[in-house]
Amino acid sequence: MKFGFIFGAASDTGQLRDINQDSYLTAPGLAIVADGMGGHSGGEIASAIAVQTMQSLLADRAAEHRSLQSLTEAVRIANREILTEAATDGTLQGMGTTVCALSAIDSASGLRLGLINVGDSRAYRFYDGELEQITEDHSLVEVLVRQGRLTPEEAQVHPQRNIVTRALGVGDQVEVDRFEVAAQLGTRYLLCSDGLFNEISDDQIATILAAVTDPDEATRTLVNAANDHGGRDNITAVIVDVVSSDEAEAAWAKSSDGAAIGTASPSRDSDRPASGADDGRRWWQRR
Ligand code: MN
Repeated sequence: MKFGFIFGAASDTGQLRDINQDSYLTAPGLAIVADGMGGHSGGEIASAIAVQTMQSLLADRAAEHRSLQSLTEAVRIANREILTEAATDGTLQGMGTTVCALSAIDSASGLRLGLINVGDSRAYRFYDGELEQITEDHSLVEVLVRQGRLTPEEAQVHPQRNIVTRALGVGDQVEVDRFEVAAQLGTRYLLCSDGLFNEISDDQIATILAAVTDPDEATRTLVNAANDHGGRDNITAVIVDVVSSDEAEAAWAKSSDGAAIGTASPSRDSDRPASGADDGRRWWQRR
């Protein structure tokens, strides 16, 4: 089946952080959200490397030449790029990033959607009023929720909610979760960093996705809602509306520039010391 994407994207530093370490990309047939971690400028650099590496490996390929395997390979190459960059500069040591990406792919069943995820950014599917989280968070609080030791509501405010169990930039190997789904017209996908879902509930997300048709406006509404609730972290939301290929072409013809890449927002206060950017996030390796 022929289909296309219409995108919306918004990213904000939030109310407490000094800089925005999230990065995102929207390009034909491809959307990525990456949430960087590490003090000084490490986090922003790691998330930017992840997005740019995947863009250079995937964005020029037609969907017919993308697969879950090529998405996974792009994540692994991005991981090595981050490790290499961190090794060249002591101040970047320990930088890392999550990555969550949605792409049109070729599969045994024809053109479909491929999703990959590492870390605690999320992909949701919204269809017919129902919101469903597709990805599983690779985080300590997710482990505790699964063990029944925390409720999802307690996880949102848990002091250790920043601890991730998987990320790029941590080791030579990176385990990548992969999902393949049918490209159903009228489906809306949301990719987001934890700065969104730690502030607002899935019900609030669903209400906004249902109420605001324009995808750009919907992402801005989501980010504003997270900021209104406190904005304790950087907030990024990317919406992918699955539409007919004709509808997608018309929308792309109207937009001036092809690919959008961010972080969209400048430093809230660039005079503050760079160490203020350290959000205390750290790795917690499962053995
Ligand atoms: Mn975050």
